[in-house]
Amino acid sequence: MKRSKLLILILLALFSLIFIVLPQRIETKGSNEVSNEVSNEVSGILSISVLDTDKSDCIIITLDSFCMIIDTGYSRKQKCVEEYMTKNGISNINYMVLTHLDADHIGNAVYILSHYNVKNIIQPDYEKNSTANNNYQKYIAEHKIEPRYLTDDLTVKVGELEICILMPMKTEYELDNDYSIIVSVSYGIHKYLFCGDAQEVRMGELLQYDLGEYTLIKTPHHGQYKPNTEKVLDIIKPRYCIVTRESADLTAKKTIKMYEKLGTRMYWTGYGNVEVKSDGKNLWILQ
Ligand SMILES: [Zn+2]
Repeated sequence: MKRSKLLILILLALFSLIFIVLPQRIETKGSNEVSNEVSNEVSGILSISVLDTDKSDCIIITLDSFCMIIDTGYSRKQKCVEEYMTKNGISNINYMVLTHLDADHIGNAVYILSHYNVKNIIQPDYEKNSTANNNYQKYIAEHKIEPRYLTDDLTVKVGELEICILMPMKTEYELDNDYSIIVSVSYGIHKYLFCGDAQEVRMGELLQYDLGEYTLIKTPHHGQYKPNTEKVLDIIKPRYCIVTRESADLTAKKTIKMYEKLGTRMYWTGYGNVEVKSDGKNLWILQ
């Protein structure tokens, strides 16, 4: 083979490798970007666990010594959170993201704050009068803890791990659930999307991003069907979906149909914690 031909072949191979292997990056709306204090050289097994806390959310993401918790579950499921943290030797939490202020998302916020070393709290900026939120507000006021109320999206980088925290775009919504912070995680060739309890308006906002395909989605609002969720799914084409509720029987039939159409494999937390592990290339899901 001629030398020039060989060179062209090598260049073509390299070109296609770049497009196949590199994950597509989500462009956040804001310019905030922080590299975490954890070593930038970090590599290893990413762990994402979606806990069995009934119809409520508690997601724990770890890589090496880095830890992010997205929501804290119902307070009555505190034992489940405690057991997971103890089993995995977690005492430091770099970020606690409270997607919104409903009891099924902030139920164990006070427990987490009083038992673990939480460095940053990120939450949307709105008010809610409920026992769970009043307890949480009282605790942070008494302990002079100041959550971060972001107005722009924030990107957290830990080595190859990139976490985009997507803030609600409006200052006021008719439904509390639409204040939900959405979290997009990218590690190696896989991307993971956590949608809080986003409903039609908030899922519509997500359509404004250049999303690309995702490996896994924590479906919004415990499996409730919304047309904009279907539009997002048509873009992200997830291979796996996690529904944070007791069983398949309680999930909207339209939601199950929507995932079946895409060939997405579904998991329900009611059957036990869903644990996802990945080295950036290979991926395992245990339940
Ligand atoms: Zn919820």
